[in-house]
Amino acid sequence: MSELPILPPGTVLRLAPGEWCGEDRVPVWDRAYICVERVHADSPEQAWVTGHAIECAYKSSDCTIPCMVLLVRVAAILRQVER
Ligand SMILES: [Zn+2]
Repeated sequence: MSELPILPPGTVLRLAPGEWCGEDRVPVWDRAYICVERVHADSPEQAWVTGHAIECAYKSSDCTIPCMVLLVRVAAILRQVER
């Protein structure tokens, strides 16, 4: 079982096709970028990441509530934290 890393708020995760799902848990075969606000474990393999699209950082005034929730493979998070 891999340990879920601590991601400081504001970390941008770059996700490759197949490394993430939407709330319907269906893997999405596209790239995704998410500016992390919170992470919580779903299972040893996957974690829910709540945050914003990176565009939100440019106009923070009109997006204050996290607008993205992705189910991300823990391996994908670890890969970017260790870098
Ligand atoms: Zn947003």
